[in-house]
Amino acid sequence: QAKHLGGDTFQFYNNQLQASTLERLQLEQQLRRAIEEGQLQAYYQPKLTLSDGVVRSAEALVRWNHPQRGLVSPGEFIPLAEETGLIGVISEMMLQQACEQALLWLQQGMPIRVSVNLSVSHVRQGNLVTLVQDVLKKTGLPAYLLELELTESQMLENAESIIATFKQLRELGVHLAIDDFGTGYSSLSYLKRFPANSVKIDQSFIRDVAENHEDAAITRAIIAMAHGLNLLVVAEGVETQAQMDFLHANLCDEVQGYLICRPVAAEQFTEFLLAHTAAATES
Ligand code: C2E
Ligand code: MG
Ligand code: MG
Ligand code: MG
Repeated sequence: QAKHLGGDTFQFYNNQLQASTLERLQLEQQLRRAIEEGQLQAYYQPKLTLSDGVVRSAEALVRWNHPQRGLVSPGEFIPLAEETGLIGVISEMMLQQACEQALLWLQQGMPIRVSVNLSVSHVRQGNLVTLVQDVLKKTGLPAYLLELELTESQMLENAESIIATFKQLRELGVHLAIDDFGTGYSSLSYLKRFPANSVKIDQSFIRDVAENHEDAAITRAIIAMAHGLNLLVVAEGVETQAQMDFLHANLCDEVQGYLICRPVAAEQFTEFLLAHTAAATES
């Protein structure tokens, strides 16, 4: 029954709503099944140390290997996972996979620190410290080889309890990174109190850093400030040699991006590491 005023509009709007609710329900069901059937997989992207060209760490990025749709990127399902609470299971699975993999690399003589992305909705569920402790114990990975990333904007929700949680994580020996830095409006006094080891400059500043005055100035300022606070600086989304040269000249510590390597499955990452190490020792 359409409403008397602008009935069609109402009807149309209502259908749209129903369609999107249905789609979301379907996606949620598929995601639950994907988790049960092991369709979620960690991909890894290396971070390169600029001063000596060595790869010491990698970011774990979740991929959904969908039977019909192929590889689905996290942007398409992480927000839904956050809303439905499935994010907890996904984080747990990513932590487990990443720690197992890092231990394997360590045993193969390639110590790589692996970083896992967290969502604040999961941090708020309250068992993060115990979870991380358990995974480290179960896998036997030394804590210093695990890093956790949280975006600057997510840090600002519930700031006090997040600082407390992350202090406990630091005490375990786990490393902490502030992701997408520069886009979250955090205050300097907050930054001072957050127990991070590194900041990752958001890729929006890196994109035009070699040509754009403002981006260059912001990037230099972030590097100087982070170094002043004893934090390591990583630049994300490095795609060109010009960006890499700028970052090297301005003392950025590490770079991550397609120029070095795309996110790849663990086996390909091992191949990348072996080839990269061989090339580095030749020159
Ligand atoms: P992020 O943590 O900032 O990850 C960096 C994103 O930039 C990744 O996208 C990566 O594939 C992409 N990237 C890397 N190098 C380049 C480059 O040179 N150019 C460009 N244009 N992009 C590059 P991805 O894998 O699609 O992940 C998107 C976001 O989804 C991540 O941003 C992170 O916030 C979230 N995410 C990924 N995996 C997880 C996870 O396991 N748990 C949670 N909670 N969030 C995750
Ligand atoms: Mg990240
Ligand atoms: Mg980022
Ligand atoms: Mg991001």
